[in-house]
Amino acid sequence: MRIIIYLLVLVFPATIWAQGRFDDVEITATKISDGLYMLQGSGGNMGISIGEDGVFLIDDQYAPLTDKILAAIKKLSDKEIHFVFNTHYHDDHTGGNENLGKMNIDIAAHDKVYERLHSQNVPKEALPIISFNDEMTFHMNGLTIRTRFYPNAHTESDSVIYFEGRNVIHTGDLFEQSGYPYIDIEAGGSFIGMINAVDNVLKSIDDQTIIIPGHGSLSNKAELENYNMVLKKIYDELTPLADKGLSIEDVIKLPLLNEYKDSWGKGDIRGETFLKFAYNSILKERK
Ligand SMILES: [Zn+2]
Repeated sequence: MRIIIYLLVLVFPATIWAQGRFDDVEITATKISDGLYMLQGSGGNMGISIGEDGVFLIDDQYAPLTDKILAAIKKLSDKEIHFVFNTHYHDDHTGGNENLGKMNIDIAAHDKVYERLHSQNVPKEALPIISFNDEMTFHMNGLTIRTRFYPNAHTESDSVIYFEGRNVIHTGDLFEQSGYPYIDIEAGGSFIGMINAVDNVLKSIDDQTIIIPGHGSLSNKAELENYNMVLKKIYDELTPLADKGLSIEDVIKLPLLNEYKDSWGKGDIRGETFLKFAYNSILKERK
């Protein structure tokens, strides 16, 4: 039996299995303003700036999609990609790093994204070649592209990218526009940290700001405010339960999140799964 399995693995290496999943994925480009686009395929939303200096790319989804992503960018600009910036380490945002690194495109990210990817033993080419600890600014295509670090939120090291003067931002996965957010507690994520990070982002934007969320459709400040209001409401419902010492099993049995069943409940992350992240995060903070 074992031999048969080995043979199957030899005949169908993992890359081919993985490829199948992405065969039908199309990369679409949504214009935001002159030279700024959101790209979508499968995985985290990408953002790009194109212009006289070249292409600045935010995130790169999964490795099997790299050729499609490059083709989509080619349709918009014949200039070279200078940088890819990773908003955080998750593979639906960094899976294309190795392919792009092998093309000598410079990968930039927060120090902790570098550390996390390095600890996962990814190939050298998939690692950021530039990393930063607080803020970093790119000067390209006549833009000031400022990247800011938000600790312990969706992960231990989330960045938000501000296209200053154009009033466009990319939030990475601090903002899940289409459902419950994922909180990667194992990698330093925190529910209250996420709420605080979004509060800080909200202070830096205005009613006209166009937001590229980590997942979902183009958005705005009103939607981000509503998102954070819902997160705060859930946080305020869960903290007294933690005070009472309820276990996660008890919490899941309660009629929580019912009002979001037809909205966030239809997203990728189930309400019950979200409750587990959220409640475990609250319990962890009390230890
Ligand atoms: Zn993520």
